[in-house]
Amino acid sequence: MIIDGKKEAQILREEIKKEIITIKNKTNKVPGLTVILIGDFVPSQIYVRNKEKNSKEVGINSNVIRYSKDVTEDEVLKKIQELNNNKEVSGILVQLPLPQQINKEKIINSIDPAKDVDGFHPVNVGNLASGYNAIVPCTPLGCLLLLKKIETNLSGKHAVIVGRSNLNGKPMAQLLLKENCTVTITHSKTKNLKEECLKADILIVAVGVANLVKKDWVKKGSIVVDIGINKLGDKIVGDVSFEEVKDIASSITPVPGGVGPMTIACLLKNTLNCFKKLN
Ligand code: NAP
Repeated sequence: MIIDGKKEAQILREEIKKEIITIKNKTNKVPGLTVILIGDFVPSQIYVRNKEKNSKEVGINSNVIRYSKDVTEDEVLKKIQELNNNKEVSGILVQLPLPQQINKEKIINSIDPAKDVDGFHPVNVGNLASGYNAIVPCTPLGCLLLLKKIETNLSGKHAVIVGRSNLNGKPMAQLLLKENCTVTITHSKTKNLKEECLKADILIVAVGVANLVKKDWVKKGSIVVDIGINKLGDKIVGDVSFEEVKDIASSITPVPGGVGPMTIACLLKNTLNCFKKLN
């Protein structure tokens, strides 16, 4: 089965839209998302445009603050303080990567954890790792929602995650531990990566290497979730060699049209959840 992330994301967006209409009718308020975009990096501009468009479609009040690439760190920190104190703003997102003069850690740590819709603030990271309620990074959250659509009971499954980034691999591992999976995290220094992948009932790949995972890395009947987005010539491909793996896995996400659409839908979900907690 090919997992249709586009369709699932649309279902999620519809649910969010309905809930926002109900909230608006009752309170005359809507969630607000402010994105800070620094510089002219083209992929960031595309991501932010998509986030803005999707937010507006579900009724979130979306605002983008743009800075030139030579803005000072102090100016951005001042703006974040302002947004932290602004009751109309339920979610704050600073689009990464940042220019050299701006310290990413300082910026992330300055965001009110209750408005940290990316789930990158150490408070949210710590809450997730402790198994408490946390704002969860959008991509792993999207992967979990897709997994739950095809496998209602994840308990006891062996999940192997390739990649250990703060953005993807680590939060994915925490989420699957919470679902009682047995989790293996692998990375660039893992020995016998192929053998580790072959043990997976659920294989999640977040590396950034086109077509890294081949058909002989995948156990028959397993579920494969491909987070990777890579440009190969004029095509976008994942980290999994889709054409050869799709006949071995029981379910697999395509790239594009798998995890990507769920990521933005989960950003909207996080923004709505922040609004509900703050109001
Ligand atoms: P990242 O921060 O660069 O981390 C990559 C991870 O992969 C690292 O842990 C690295 O190991 C590991 N790795 C690199 N080469 C490897 C290899 N040959 N074998 C095994 N492990 C290897 O990347 P990221 O931010 O997590 O992003 C990963 C991919 O997901 C990228 O293609 C990115 O574009 C994509 N992405 C997609 C979405 C979406 O919505 N679908 C969202 C975010 C990112 P070390 O730790 O040892 O270096």
